[in-house]
Amino acid sequence: MNTEHTANVSPDEIARFESLASRWWDPDGESRPLHDLNPVRADYVAARVDLRGARVADVGCGGGLLSEALARAGARVTGIDMGLKVIEIARLHLHESGLEVDYRQQSSAELAQAEPASFDAVCCMELIEHVPDPAALVRDLAAMLKPGGWLFMSTLNRTPAAFGAAILGAEYITRMLPRGTHHYAQFLKPSELGRLLRHAGLELEEVSGLGYNPLTRKAWLSRITAVNYLLCARKPA
Ligand code: SAH
Repeated sequence: MNTEHTANVSPDEIARFESLASRWWDPDGESRPLHDLNPVRADYVAARVDLRGARVADVGCGGGLLSEALARAGARVTGIDMGLKVIEIARLHLHESGLEVDYRQQSSAELAQAEPASFDAVCCMELIEHVPDPAALVRDLAAMLKPGGWLFMSTLNRTPAAFGAAILGAEYITRMLPRGTHHYAQFLKPSELGRLLRHAGLELEEVSGLGYNPLTRKAWLSRITAVNYLLCARKPA
């Protein structure tokens, strides 16, 4: 692992996701909720950005579910993650899909430094609740964006409903996710994330709830942001 910029990485978090890497593309494995949410997230991005030929960064890309969906829609995608095993799985899956994605084991700080103001859109889904310094992550994401570029993020709200669904429900009752996947104290309220975005010079455009029924495996956009939510922000042109 590159140790130059590891300040904003929790090694426990990376190890936990690496242990899931080989089953990442199994729609019935531990990444099942990500598989189920993915079409909604990809459509949300595609409805706001013309993806054909657009340069898109997928930060904390994991095994590449969203990276591939965006590449399939015509984007030139760079996917980064600090987990080497998940990056290897993401690369392997390109042989199956026949798509092209530039996957790198790289931190957000490294990509922001190497390619500042380079991306038409930056996606950062289900990552911010796993990093030690969320403000620094948001600053990196802002730095990668071209002026006028779009940032898309999703994460879990810090509410009793999110605790019930994402931790009690998913980790303890249904055991769909391994215990310890999420830490309640690290969940961010939309207002808190909004403040981080503003401090990084971004303009918050929209916040939507991400509804999900794990039994029917249906996911949808909703007005209810109490559990999972999706937002978009723009860097001023
Ligand atoms: N964004 C993907 C995967 C979410 S799972 C999706 O929504 O489909 C969270 C991912 O973030 C894991 O792959 C994990 O390895 C990665 N991760 C955790 N902490 C990280 C950090 N500090 N920097 C980069 N990636 C990190």
